[in-house]
Amino acid sequence: MSHPSRRVFLTSLATAAMAPVVRGRRVLAQNLPARVDATALRQRIEALSMFGRPSAGTFADGVSRVAYSDADVAGRRYSIDLMHAAGLDPRVDPAGNIFGRRAGTDESLPPILFGSHIDSVPNGGNFDGDLGSLAALGALEALAAVNLRTRHPLEMVIWSAEEGVAFGRGLNGSRIVAGDVKPADLDAVWNGMTRADAIRKIGGDPGRIMDAIRSRGAHHCYLELHIEQGGTLEREGIPVGVVEGIVSIDRYDVTATGFANHAGTTPMADRQDALLAASHLTIAVRQIVDSEPGRHVGTVGRLDVTPNAPNVIPGVAQLTIELRDLSSEKLTRLAERIRLRAAEIARDTKASIEFTSSNHSAPANAALDVQEAIERSAGRLGLASQRMPSGAGHDAQMMAQLSPMGMIFVPSVRGVSHSPLELTRWEDCARGADVLLGTVLEMDRA
Ligand SMILES: [Zn+2]
Repeated sequence: MSHPSRRVFLTSLATAAMAPVVRGRRVLAQNLPARVDATALRQRIEALSMFGRPSAGTFADGVSRVAYSDADVAGRRYSIDLMHAAGLDPRVDPAGNIFGRRAGTDESLPPILFGSHIDSVPNGGNFDGDLGSLAALGALEALAAVNLRTRHPLEMVIWSAEEGVAFGRGLNGSRIVAGDVKPADLDAVWNGMTRADAIRKIGGDPGRIMDAIRSRGAHHCYLELHIEQGGTLEREGIPVGVVEGIVSIDRYDVTATGFANHAGTTPMADRQDALLAASHLTIAVRQIVDSEPGRHVGTVGRLDVTPNAPNVIPGVAQLTIELRDLSSEKLTRLAERIRLRAAEIARDTKASIEFTSSNHSAPANAALDVQEAIERSAGRLGLASQRMPSGAGHDAQMMAQLSPMGMIFVPSVRGVSHSPLELTRWEDCARGADVLLGTVLEMDRA
């Protein structure tokens, strides 16, 4: 086009006139110099959904594009072709992550990295990861369309094997880039193939796996647009979530031990019922979690009873307690309160209760300046935003180890995710993509 700047000005006037009302007042939106093509974004999300779609199904039937499957390979091929067409010269790193780069005016600066993943859980939805990946591509195309060159180089990424399906652990591609990898990891076997074979299948190079590691400071910042996967934004009517961080997860394996005995002949007063102790403890977890203000959550999600027979008093009950919050200190405090209560329950039920810590993952905080950049970007589009934790894990938590990190959430209808019913409205997809683009430009100034 011959006069990109004039075109942009007219676009901006037209859109400012339609600035949405936020919290009862009209916001003067200082518009972005470029916008992501919302029609192309939708068409690509729909096209990508073909790879892993149930046979004779439709978009509404969701997708099974499990990492390293044939569907994953096909979906990656489709995405790489789009990146080629956009002039991004895509390349696959030794871990199987797909990168595409657009030069900045100062190539000595570290790149702004942004993207997501396109693998899914079995019977998953069409927005988890796909939105952030294709919006990243759309943002780069939008800048090219108006000849806008950033100072920092821009790099988009489609992470490999984000969902924790293959090899039983999530964030596989970003984990390697963050340096959490040993050559012996490549010998793990899942679904009849070694991890080395799996990485080879998607175009990676297991022999050079250590070359995929990037150093601290390799990026100016990392940004990821993602669906919320919970119902907060939709319930509050807020279009943009600004992620404060990805929560810490503490997990405990708990064993209540009583005495298995005849359910007909043992008087009530003489029983040592392990399931009774576990039941009291399950309720106590809920009460203690509810007793403190905040957005922390606690779950007893697994219970195994031995011998699990109708006519035997349960001798052993094993359960897991999982606690999540942005504050590790709060999780430690809640666990301590649960242990104290467990001691009382053990005394009252004459069972013993033992705790073993089985998982601790540190929280990954989003950088404050990136959170503010996302808020300014939403503000320029006249969109209200709200800060919130992410209760789910994301590649962004790995990238937080290398550079400042920030995430943008858009509403999930009814808070459903990891299901064919997963849905984010097309207008919310488009808004999120523009907020991502605006945030890239905000961070380019910093
Ligand atoms: Zn995801």
